[in-house]
Amino acid sequence: MGKFDHLFQEKNVYTSDLYCKGIYPAAKTDTDTFVKKEGESEKYSVVLPLNHGSIYRVRFETNPAALRVAACLSDPRALKDGEGMASPALSDCPFIEGEVAFDADCEFMYVPQVLGEYLVIYTGTEKPDFIIEEYPVSLGYDVEDDWWDCGKQGSNMGGEDSWGDWQWTYDEFINNIYEPMRAKYPDYITRQWIGKDETGEIDMWAYFYEPADYEQVLFLTGGIHGEEVDGYSGLGRFLQLLAEEDGSHAGMHYLRTKVKLVVVPVCNVWGATHNSRVTSKGVNLNGDFKNHDAVETINVIWLFEQYKDQIACSMDFHTAIPKAAAMYYQFSIEAANSLVARKVSNHVFEDLKKKGWVEGIPQMWLIPGKLKKDSKYLQGYFYNKYGVPTIVCEHNQSRWYEHHSAESIETATKYYGNHIIQTALAKLKLVK
Ligand SMILES: [Zn+2]
Repeated sequence: MGKFDHLFQEKNVYTSDLYCKGIYPAAKTDTDTFVKKEGESEKYSVVLPLNHGSIYRVRFETNPAALRVAACLSDPRALKDGEGMASPALSDCPFIEGEVAFDADCEFMYVPQVLGEYLVIYTGTEKPDFIIEEYPVSLGYDVEDDWWDCGKQGSNMGGEDSWGDWQWTYDEFINNIYEPMRAKYPDYITRQWIGKDETGEIDMWAYFYEPADYEQVLFLTGGIHGEEVDGYSGLGRFLQLLAEEDGSHAGMHYLRTKVKLVVVPVCNVWGATHNSRVTSKGVNLNGDFKNHDAVETINVIWLFEQYKDQIACSMDFHTAIPKAAAMYYQFSIEAANSLVARKVSNHVFEDLKKKGWVEGIPQMWLIPGKLKKDSKYLQGYFYNKYGVPTIVCEHNQSRWYEHHSAESIETATKYYGNHIIQTALAKLKLVK
């Protein structure tokens, strides 16, 4: 247990004694509203003051007959009879996407977007039993867990002073970044052909970073979206620094000497070559893990299955567009890596604040994924089918710096790297 772990442990915070009457979200219109109606005294809502920096999970014993969920910026219990209040559209909430659809398990999650928010859960005339769990995430404390800094990096713009070139084909990327590493550290790094892509022309490679005396296995994937170049480049840069580590950072040294990494540097190899989100046949691999329409997906699953009983965590690396969240991670709040994922996300949040990239009222940008992730995604498939904890790490490619710049590579390398290091240090599953 770390010094601040208690700040990230889930707790049950509210139960059904919080029901109150007469507060009542109206039907969804252009602007969601809710009103106080004393006359509607048989209609029940729960009004929940939210701690910013936490994720809330609401679970009902049985599906309520009527159900609407709204959020507001002041306490709706203070409204006078007949008064109304606007509610930010919940479709803006990263968690409750579209309609508040309760699945068979009668649960949903909510992340407060701003300080001082209240959640209103309207249940109609019933008072179904429920429980609310609070998962603290981003509390403004540094967890002091051996944060790793990669220092300044080269750009991905091509040219003499660059680290890499975003215009490289997949083969060029492999031959310029991964193959020199393998040549330099043959006792540590090996590779395996895992199949052709859909065109039948591009070879897909997996790389293994295997210390002689490893005690756990992590599964790392990049480039499921082929155009997310700085993302899979950041993963490649991190692995270079890992291969070369000199013992000066304890977490890196542990990773280098005790953890086997099974890595698919790029999953959408045709997409990486053609700067395309989808494969040559138009398949978005990110949604193909249930149907397996693309052979690329099958190749990745085949590799995963060789190690499925050993893998402590599967980590999938993406890039987000500039307008997307400053910090964007998905994992299952219930999975074994939940605590470490929240802790590292808090570090990242603190780092973004130090850089001045997020300011003012702290915003919760962490997106821990749906509790039961859809198996069409890699992370849902590996978690639901095999019980392996997963995380998707998204690096913002150009919100504060130029696309493919040195800062972009540095940010991807550092944030991905710390997630990998801390996941390893959490020792979610030991194999030897
Ligand atoms: Zn992506």
